[in-house]
Order: sequence, then structure tokens, then C-alpha cells
Amino acid sequence: MRSHKHGYPFYFPIAERRWKEIEEAKGAFPTIKLLIGLELGDVSNNVELARQHLQQYDYDFVLGSVHHIRDERNQRFENLCPTDLVVAYLEEMDALVDFGAFDSLAHLDYPAKMWDVPQSVFSYFQDRIDAILKRIVEKNIALEINSSMLFKPAARLLPQRWVLEHYRAFGGTMITLGSDAHHAHAIARGLEQAKALARDVGFDHVVYYEKQKSAVVSI
Ligand SMILES: [Zn+2]
Repeated sequence: MRSHKHGYPFYFPIAERRWKEIEEAKGAFPTIKLLIGLELGDVSNNVELARQHLQQYDYDFVLGSVHHIRDERNQRFENLCPTDLVVAYLEEMDALVDFGAFDSLAHLDYPAKMWDVPQSVFSYFQDRIDAILKRIVEKNIALEINSSMLFKPAARLLPQRWVLEHYRAFGGTMITLGSDAHHAHAIARGLEQAKALARDVGFDHVVYYEKQKSAVVSI
């Protein structure tokens, strides 16, 4: 959820329409359990608006993410070298974890997907990433394995394996799987590979959420 540069929250009419559509679908398909989630992006852009939105709507699942880096005037600012991009991105992610009102942390190495930052750059910042992982464990926030980059030239899952291993070593037990589909035909694409990676790293279950309470699925 991002607010417009003039402060107009463009997402709100979309949210209203989504809620209306899901209520209609629940009525039309009463035997199917339909859950509604939100990807809450770029919270530091307007923390108060994010809090208000979450109070207003009773989501089943809230995914927290960072998609943009902004300067002090709230303008997008992404023309940086790879290391500076990752530093700025991790600062945004720290602010997101400070906010904390979400269930799972999405696509942790997103700069690799969107800005072609080489995987190796993340290992320079292992201490910062470890600190984020420890904080999400403390806050009972899950970590997402995102399969969308499997279908890009890099053909791998996000985050990198060592991030999942460290999360587990710090006591993290909650993994969510996300296909980041954007289109109906891509829903759940790559989740078998994501599940296999989770199992390989040593997790014996993944989680999903209903009314923001986690439920366990064995893998
Ligand atoms: Zn995202």
C-alpha cells in the first residue's frame, strides 16, 4: 500500500472493491474457504495510514515488504550502486520490522529481483540481515519463500538459502510460501520448489494465516 505523492491513498478504493468482491464470492461459493490478504509495501512512506488501514479491515494475512527506496522528500531514489541500494533497502526493511504489524516478511532479497543486485552483495551485509532475522523471530513474524524469480533468468527462489538457514538457526519456525503471481495464471507457480527448499533446509511445516493467526501445514 503506497500513498500518492500528494498524499492521496490511491489504494483505498481498490481495497474497498476487493472486499466487496470477496464477500460476493463467499456468497456464491459457500463451500470454499476464501481468505483475504494484503501485501503492505513501503510502510515508512506513511506509517499512520498503514495502521489506520489495518484497523479498518480484518485481513486474514498481511505480508510486509519493501519495493522502493525514497529520499527525504519521499521521491523514489534507486539510481544507486548495488551496495548502496542494499544498504538503503535494509534501512527500509528495519523500519518495516519496527512497524511490525504484519504476519510474514516478503521477498527479503528483492533488490536481486528488481534491480539486478548480484547475490554476493547480500553476503557483505550478513550481520544486518541476521539482525533483521533475529528481530522477526522475536516478533513472531514469519519469513516468506517467494517463487516468482524462478521464472526470470536467474531461476532461483528468494531469499537465498543461507538466509533461510540463519532464520532457522535463530529459532525461526514459520515459513510462508508465496508465488507473487500478479496474474491468475501464475498463482501458486513454483510453490512445490519452494516447499522442497524449506524441507531441505530442515523445516517440517509451513504456515498460512486466518484472521492473522498462524495455522500449520506439514511438508
Ligand atoms: Zn512484493
